[in-house]
Amino acid sequence: MNDESENNAEPSPGGSERSIGIWAAGTVIVIVLAVLMTRPDWVKGMVKALSGHRYRAPSKHSCISNLKQIDGGVQEWALENRKVATDTYTFADTNLMKYYRGSTLPICPAGGTYSPGKNVASAPRCIVPNHTL
Ligand SMILES: [Zn+2]
Repeated sequence: MNDESENNAEPSPGGSERSIGIWAAGTVIVIVLAVLMTRPDWVKGMVKALSGHRYRAPSKHSCISNLKQIDGGVQEWALENRKVATDTYTFADTNLMKYYRGSTLPICPAGGTYSPGKNVASAPRCIVPNHTL
């Protein structure tokens, strides 16, 4: 009977701390479950947020790759047309558009629109938040 307590350095404080921990964890779980049951809209919101995040991620990635493509075209156009970093550009420039496939800008998968950077040195932008190069 004494064998167990000899092996354990502090049997009674350790034991009570553990049972308080289990009791606290159980209470937290019960409270969380009660809250979730009374507020189904929170659960729906969470599911929506998680699934929304999953669907938004790929469009963000392909938009960023579009922005890289747009910036690449600008850099190539600037080089071949002896532009400097502070020169400005516009997507209405048909000469610049020749550097893109089909002479048109790629399309943002989230329906955003692209606008040029403030000059050749700064990256083009998408109107959708977080669609940044
Ligand atoms: Zn975008």
